[in-house]
Amino acid sequence: MGKKAALKIIGIVLVLAGIVTPFLYWEEQRSWLTGALISISFPLLPYGFVMALVGILLIVMGIVIKEEMPTREPIPIPPAPPLITRICPQCGRVLAEDMKYCPNCGKALG
Ligand SMILES: [Zn+2]
Repeated sequence: MGKKAALKIIGIVLVLAGIVTPFLYWEEQRSWLTGALISISFPLLPYGFVMALVGILLIVMGIVIKEEMPTREPIPIPPAPPLITRICPQCGRVLAEDMKYCPNCGKALG
């Protein structure tokens, strides 16, 4: 899972928690049984608000930021081996192209 997806999921969870908190409070107030005694969710309201804000921020970040690609070292391309341009027809020695004579056996090269 990417960083962006994680941010979005955490953000959504926080936003949901933030949204649920006022409803919890409202529900608590509606129910005279708990509402009459003590409010549990009322102190949570500011937290819910902050959670929702942070959640929105995280979602935005998850959308905006660029997914960090794992930095992969570029694989160095090994230098191509020198092309075997010619092989002495007499002794089989590998020769450079500009050689006039084979340094091994002395054969004149066309
Ligand atoms: Zn040769």
